[in-house]
Amino acid sequence: MSENYVKILDDKDPALRKKAESVTLPLSDDDRQILTDILKYVVDSHDESLQEKYQLLPASGLAAPQIGINKRMIAVFTEEVINDKKIIAKYALVNPKIISHSQQMTYIENGEGCLSVKEPHEGYVPRYARISVEAFDLLQDKVVKIRAKGYLAIVLQHEIDHLSGILFYDHINKDDPFYAIPDAIII
Ligand SMILES: [Zn+2]
Repeated sequence: MSENYVKILDDKDPALRKKAESVTLPLSDDDRQILTDILKYVVDSHDESLQEKYQLLPASGLAAPQIGINKRMIAVFTEEVINDKKIIAKYALVNPKIISHSQQMTYIENGEGCLSVKEPHEGYVPRYARISVEAFDLLQDKVVKIRAKGYLAIVLQHEIDHLSGILFYDHINKDDPFYAIPDAIII
């Protein structure tokens, strides 16, 4: 691992189970740098040559607690093809909060993954199918409201969970990991 990239902790580290603290705005230079570094990892991890060169694991998102920083900051970078159109979402969010969500649920058929989780945890992870998130976005330099559905909505919920010390496998039904969630959208 190059020292240019953040070091990601695994789920045995107690840092992953803490409730993260709100970040004061305007952002301090330190917080700005931390969030920029987190976003850099996520974005560069989509580039195959950088993946190989620096042993980056492909990521759609990363949260500050995953690098041992107990603050409410996350980065998200997703590339989806919707109706033959490539849709890219890129955010560097401070104090993200889900302000509303659908009743309908969604889940990824192959389950979720996490850069902090090495062991396999099979099963469906129920998520809200549609959410609205309010946050300060470093990239737009303002408070934004993000309406998300599909894969992006799942990634946002996964990363925001990290700020409460929650990991994806906490949501898997222990008795029946592949319990078919009624009326859910399968991705
Ligand atoms: Zn994760």
